[in-house]
Amino acid sequence: MNLEFSQEQHMLRDSVDRFVTQAYGFAERRAIAESPTRISPSAWQAMADFGWLALPLPEADGGLGGSAVDVGILMQGLGRGLVLEPVLSSSVLAAGLIAGQGAEAQRARWLPGIADGSRRAAFAHIEPGVDPWRGLPTTCATKTVEGWRIDGAKPFVPDAPGASLLVVSARIGTSTDVGLFVLDPDTAGLRMETVETWDDRLAATVGFEAVAVPDDALLGEAVDARAVIERSLDRTVAAACAEAVACMQVLLEATIEHTRTRQQFGRALSENQVLRHLMVDMAVQCEEARAIALRAAHACDAQHDDPAARARAVSGARLKIDEASRFVAQSAVQLHGAMGVTDELNIGAYFRRLLCIESSWGTHAEHLSRCVDLRRDGVSVGMELELDEEELAFRDEVRAFIAENLPAALARGQRMNASVVAEPDQAAPWHRALHVRGWSAPGWPVEHGGTGWTPAQRFVFDAECARADAPPLSPFGLKMVGPVLLGFGSEEQKSRFLPGILSGEVAWCQGYSEPGSGSDLASLKTRAVRDGDDYIVNGTKIWTTHAHHADWMFALVRTGDGPRKQDGISFLLIDMKSPGITTRPIRTMGGDHEVNQVFFDDVRVPVANRVGDEGRGWSYGKYLLQFERGGALFAIRLRRDLSRMDEAGWVAARSGERTIERDDIQARFVMLENDVAALEMIELQIMSALQTGESPGAVSSQIKLRASELRQEITQLGVALLGAAALVREPRRPLHAVEDLAGDLAPELVPIVPTYLNSRANTIFGGSSQVQRDILAKDILRI
Ligand SMILES: Cc1cc2nc3c(=O)[nH]c(=O)nc-3n(C[C@H](O)[C@H](O)[C@H](O)COP(=O)(O)OP(=O)(O)OC[C@H]3O[C@@H](n4cnc5c(N)ncnc54)[C@H](O)[C@@H]3O)c2cc1C
Repeated sequence: MNLEFSQEQHMLRDSVDRFVTQAYGFAERRAIAESPTRISPSAWQAMADFGWLALPLPEADGGLGGSAVDVGILMQGLGRGLVLEPVLSSSVLAAGLIAGQGAEAQRARWLPGIADGSRRAAFAHIEPGVDPWRGLPTTCATKTVEGWRIDGAKPFVPDAPGASLLVVSARIGTSTDVGLFVLDPDTAGLRMETVETWDDRLAATVGFEAVAVPDDALLGEAVDARAVIERSLDRTVAAACAEAVACMQVLLEATIEHTRTRQQFGRALSENQVLRHLMVDMAVQCEEARAIALRAAHACDAQHDDPAARARAVSGARLKIDEASRFVAQSAVQLHGAMGVTDELNIGAYFRRLLCIESSWGTHAEHLSRCVDLRRDGVSVGMELELDEEELAFRDEVRAFIAENLPAALARGQRMNASVVAEPDQAAPWHRALHVRGWSAPGWPVEHGGTGWTPAQRFVFDAECARADAPPLSPFGLKMVGPVLLGFGSEEQKSRFLPGILSGEVAWCQGYSEPGSGSDLASLKTRAVRDGDDYIVNGTKIWTTHAHHADWMFALVRTGDGPRKQDGISFLLIDMKSPGITTRPIRTMGGDHEVNQVFFDDVRVPVANRVGDEGRGWSYGKYLLQFERGGALFAIRLRRDLSRMDEAGWVAARSGERTIERDDIQARFVMLENDVAALEMIELQIMSALQTGESPGAVSSQIKLRASELRQEITQLGVALLGAAALVREPRRPLHAVEDLAGDLAPELVPIVPTYLNSRANTIFGGSSQVQRDILAKDILRI
């Protein structure tokens, strides 16, 4: 598994960026856009000289054999400059068809010219109402004595004007095969009417009336070319997605810059929280678009080409990017005010290019129905990592371990779990089993009991656990206080507390929030006053998850008052059995008892239980929050949640609620699966870039933001699947222990509504979504 760019790829990116900055500025582009051909011969020649026109072509045909990821890098660079020359139509699409379907002599005849820029090619294919991938064109090729006769029309052929070769798809005679013909546009009977497109380019309406072509105009044998068409279109769409990402990124950067400098009401526009948050959402969409475009490119490059998986990845990416780019482009115009709607900035040109990408190589509706069909055929959008032999052996080892050690009752308990955190009777036995195997703390350094796994191994392990419905381990020890102790605890504290955390024998809870201090946590008032070797703690903590199960609490308390409210806060480890602690249960709207209020009345806590320096607890607490928010593979669990909703939907269908079968519901699944795939790609990239045990930094806020929103959307979809059956309430908890569940719902449907209700908390705990947006605006967008 390698998701990092190679050195060559970095060099490619830099050279395209340089070209665009130096030779393709605003004025140069405008001149090209206003020229009759929309092509600059010198820019085209430069692209040929750099080898970019040859990049997508196989080495055997005189190309550079670039991967889809390489082509994506090229297109991102060209996209930044809104480059008009038809690299995509000619070198990626048309050349891909000739290379994929052509016989050796045909490839030798046409491809070198495309690679060196002396020929430009376009693909005449799209017909209204005909599926671009598998449909049968109405344009028809009939065998004649001399060769072939082509009749029909292609109402929209991008980049056809000025092309010296047209690749045309046509039905072969009365068969159901589709052939590809290479034509000279000047051939008698071929009519071409030029049209302008909204992105300053040219396209054509092409008509064929008894167009006679020789036998060798047909690429390859007279066999169905649909597999090659599908593959080339997929590579083109993946490349176009990369281009769209670049356009979105430019729009975001321009918007940030504009709002920073534009003063209204006596301050910069960027100082308004509502605008900052909107820009964060734009940035998140850009990042997800980047990730899913890269994922689509990887799917095109897969060693074992699986057309269905590739199709799902590519069309899924297009769908996600369509929506993301609309949001980013519309927001960019909005935040530029009237300047945004003029043609005096490039904003409108990027907007229009994105609009055209959305309407080319399959419409949004066509990509959606392609994904829905693939989904119905059981094609998943999962990240199929190309595992090497060692990784495959590891996966088998994990599977065998789970099969032996995860009792069916625990897996059922996890499926019935509607709470935010698994109950200890579920999580603790699994924690013990993992500990015995040495697998309880994959994120820790090896010398403290970590596993030393590679990112691929961590991914495989989490994926297998999620697939088997293993309960997630309690995060308070392993993912929160553990990393703080590792980073800032004394040796004595490490040897005293880490073993119990690792084994799961000691349960922890988090004492941060107070009745008066939630988002503004630094205003906390629980006070610890020094008395000899002890602190005496007074105050209250609230919303403390699993305080009623915990042996210990890690807490932020006030030990002093400094100039800033963040000063004077310390990080204490408090034994929950200490005299003076009382716990009041709080029931949540989903019916669960997870959270509590904890009161401290003169509770003695040894000074030795303070982590790090007195008064520096705020920085340790923030460090911990980054682990709480990120540092996990949320997407894997989200994917499992989705597949559980899918399974539940089919169960509901058997009992009469056939909602799952509806196209709009299937479309919602598709869109959510795309979102989860984008998040997964981002998580994998972060994970492969991080050393074990490192803090993920501010990007953890982005992961938290999106993972919590997606969880809510997934559970909401679950409620939609139930229809009227969602009304029945089962008040008893935990659900897995209730033998005679209320109503006549199948057991696996019962947790859906309480999960939906409980999931409202996801965008609140660990810092609400608004607070995450504040962090992202400041730490990532620097506004
Ligand atoms: C199920 C659950 C479990 C929890 N578990 C724990 C736990 O184990 N330990 C613990 O310490 N805490 C826990 N919490 C508490 C959680 O961390 C807080 O709820 C959270 O920090 C928000 O604080 P608040 O609820 O006081 O909301 P407030 O701070 O009152 O905010 C209310 C709303 O106002 C908005 N808002 C707040 N600040 C801003 C801002 N600056 N800009 C824009 N909008 C803003 C947000 O929409 C926010 O949701 C838990 C909460 C829940 C729901």
